[in-house]
Amino acid sequence: MNEITAVRGKIFHDRDEKTRSDDSLSVAPLSTREVMSRMVRDHLLPMKGYLALSFLAMAGVAASTGALPFLMQYTSDEIVVTKNMASLYVMPPLVVLVIAVKAISEYISSVSEEYIGQRITADLRARMFNALMHADLAWIQRTHSGRFTSSFLGDVGAIQAAAGVSIVGLGKNLLKCVFLIGGMFYMDWILTLAAAIGLPFAFRQIGRQSRKMMRSSTRVFQEHGDLTSFVTQALNGIRVVKAYGREEEETARVRDVIDRTVEFAMQAVRVRAASGPITETLAGVGIAAAIFYGGYRGITGSMTPGEFMGFITAAMLLYQPLKGLATLQTTLQLGVVAASRVFAIIDRIPEISDRGGAAPLRVSNGAIAFDNVSFGYDADTPVLRDFSLDIPAKQKVALVGPSGAGKSTVLNLILRFYEPQGGTVSIDGQDLKAAQVGSVRAASALVTQDPFLFDDTIAANISYGSEAATREDIEAAARAAVAHDFIMAMPDGYETRVGEAGNRLSGGQKQRISFARAMLRNAPILLLDEPTSALDSEAEALLQEALDRLVNDRTVIMIAHRLSTVKRADVICVMDEGRIVESGTHEELLARGGLYARLYETQLGEVDSDTASASGRRARRRAASK
Ligand code: ATP
Repeated sequence: MNEITAVRGKIFHDRDEKTRSDDSLSVAPLSTREVMSRMVRDHLLPMKGYLALSFLAMAGVAASTGALPFLMQYTSDEIVVTKNMASLYVMPPLVVLVIAVKAISEYISSVSEEYIGQRITADLRARMFNALMHADLAWIQRTHSGRFTSSFLGDVGAIQAAAGVSIVGLGKNLLKCVFLIGGMFYMDWILTLAAAIGLPFAFRQIGRQSRKMMRSSTRVFQEHGDLTSFVTQALNGIRVVKAYGREEEETARVRDVIDRTVEFAMQAVRVRAASGPITETLAGVGIAAAIFYGGYRGITGSMTPGEFMGFITAAMLLYQPLKGLATLQTTLQLGVVAASRVFAIIDRIPEISDRGGAAPLRVSNGAIAFDNVSFGYDADTPVLRDFSLDIPAKQKVALVGPSGAGKSTVLNLILRFYEPQGGTVSIDGQDLKAAQVGSVRAASALVTQDPFLFDDTIAANISYGSEAATREDIEAAARAAVAHDFIMAMPDGYETRVGEAGNRLSGGQKQRISFARAMLRNAPILLLDEPTSALDSEAEALLQEALDRLVNDRTVIMIAHRLSTVKRADVICVMDEGRIVESGTHEELLARGGLYARLYETQLGEVDSDTASASGRRARRRAASK
């Protein structure tokens, strides 16, 4: 564990000056005005009623605060100086009334402020999640999930504070200042000007601080994003961390981010902490000036003691809202920075969306065609080159080939997770780009190598995406996927929760649940991305029956590294470097003696060296060469 080492000669600095790279979403910071006008338009105006109530309460607080100096003035002059007995009976109830109005107004304004802040938070979170759900896969995959999580938690919290405290609090403190300064002007305008001597300096100081605050808070938020990313990554990969003995290194890495956060946070803290005392000092100078000038006029007889006391009370009361205004500025800056980060997510326009006039895809039997498709995840690194492939309806096609050949990419394009840069991908003769995205995805069911299960019940996981399914439908799908028996053997049957990412189940069990999910979806096209490669041969044999039922009567594209699993395909397409280099049945391809035959030979060799006897090998070779 690192020791905290203070930088020599500096207090409140643990480390040397820190720098860091830009935000991973390359957010251009918005100006305070842009953020404020958007917050007012999108979030405050829709809550006009609550806002009006809040302002009414604020006006109540401000007016009752503004009345206090006058009460003070009246009490001094009428009771203390003039000794008016009638005023003695009037003043106490009046004071109670004013204080009561102030207290009730404070309560209403606090609750409505908080409610507005909470609603804004809820609204921003919902919009952000909706934007993420509709965002392009490419963009989400490029960004670390920690960046998103930190926006959900940290950024939105900062916006809530800024909205609740700053926007509404600004109103309250500003109103108080207006009432008090108005009252002071009414009492004595020259004295007021004398008291305001420090104000120009205060404004200049606030402007400077807000720029500093913006810089350091941007960095604090970025560090929070990094921290979330590192923690999530280390926990997800905890088995690897432990197996490779990297606990200390991971801790040191996270410790470094945490320390950097302290440094950036302290920059912000120093700015914020200075803003109160600076305004206070300047206000103190103002009060000193007022005491001097007011006292002089009192001594020379041109001001009554009551007027003097009233004025000084107003000046004292002005302290707190002025100080509030100065510190609000820093909270506001924090919110502005956080809002820039949140709006960068909300405003993201997905590239893959329904084009104007997009019609739903009409799938009759699920024929798929790739016509001269070229595609790269980065435009300058092609993954598929002039790729053409015709898959008639109900045909079972296997894609095989070396790692990185582009097999999974073919599936990504059928699901329109990405769009080709050239050529067309179509289903039943309709270009996918011209169809509605939702209908394109509804045409296929996807089963991947590492099936994803949600932390929910088995039944909910099977019916994911087929919410109208009844319990009978779910059980029928589970039976077809050879999953019913093991599900019934679990403590709560179909109501058993599977744990985070389904980690209470074995790999084979998870895969059978994902088969059942695909079965229930009953889509005309089935996309299998190495569904059995994570399993051993025994588990794979168990799954074979389920798989046979799943592929029945559908167009199927199956990716498999284990060539023994693709023999049953109608056509095997062999891919290499983004192209189909040969295709045919298992026997035809072996006879051709090309890439497929070589891959098959290599795999047989691997199996042989593990388990098979020499005679078994000869027998298989003979069969293979037939
Ligand atoms: P494997 O058999 O190992 O799964 P594959 O044939 O399915 O490989 P693809 O996953 O289609 O290959 O990848 C083809 C190429 O595209 C690879 O070079 C890979 O690095 C690249 N690639 C895949 N996914 C992405 C992505 N999301 N962003 C950038 N490049 C990617």
